[in-house]
Amino acid sequence: TIGNYSPAPDLLRDRVILVTGAGDGIGRVAAKTFAAHGATIILLGRTTQKLEQVYDEIEAAGGPQPAIFPMDLNEARIETFEHFAEAVDQEFGRLDGLLHNASLLGQRTPIANYHYGTWQQVMQVNVNAAFGLTKTLLPLMEKSEAGSIIFTGSGVGLKGRAYWGAYAVSKFATEGLMQVLADEMDGVSEIRVNSINPGATRTNMRAAAYPAEDPQTVAAPEDIMPTYLYLMGDDSRGVSGRQFNAQG
Ligand code: NDP
Repeated sequence: TIGNYSPAPDLLRDRVILVTGAGDGIGRVAAKTFAAHGATIILLGRTTQKLEQVYDEIEAAGGPQPAIFPMDLNEARIETFEHFAEAVDQEFGRLDGLLHNASLLGQRTPIANYHYGTWQQVMQVNVNAAFGLTKTLLPLMEKSEAGSIIFTGSGVGLKGRAYWGAYAVSKFATEGLMQVLADEMDGVSEIRVNSINPGATRTNMRAAAYPAEDPQTVAAPEDIMPTYLYLMGDDSRGVSGRQFNAQG
């Protein structure tokens, strides 16, 4: 954790930041929080209606006008990502921040019973799409003076646990992608690459994984934003290749 970090109000002024899975849960709050600190947000997600609502909330709060890009990461192919990168280039000419947040939980079941198709979907959305987006957006991130890429991990992606199946494996892979990319950037690029484990956070995904839990007993997405702001803003310049826990 990064303790009681207090970000400057204009920490992300004039930054262009992509948030995947921006329509709900942690991604929704991260998008609004980054915008509140001055960033122009590209809202990417699969449910347009949810993205439009976040768009309206950012505008109502007086934040910079965001952009909406609906995309189902399970359906996306390399051409989809290339088309998206072209659109970002035309609109903004660069990308300063990339928060890989969208994920699928998949099944909670033993490996022996795990559905093959579900496995592939989870790996597609959580790993392959993050790779595809990263690969196609890297040239635009190089145009930023200090680009920041944040991957989203999980406790079960640091130590495996029964019945977490493809989700856990995808989160191990996410840490791997983060580490490989960070090492490649080291010394040759200003881009820093890190991962955040949000810890138990009050969202639909958490409720699906822990149906018997009282949601009020876990942290709200707002509570974990200091780590996201720290890694997205200039205070973390030079920090790369590290795994952060957003809660103690
Ligand atoms: P939610 O399920 O609440 O939100 C996930 C977001 O990702 C949704 O907006 C969802 O879109 C989007 N998404 C899912 N599949 C796709 C897809 N195929 N294409 C595009 N967008 C998609 O999850 P959380 O907010 O809880 O999770 C955010 C991140 O934090 C994830 O990476 C998760 O693994 C991680 N995490 C969460 C924890 C928690 O306790 N909440 C703990 C540890 C890690 P839509 O709204 O349309 O469904």
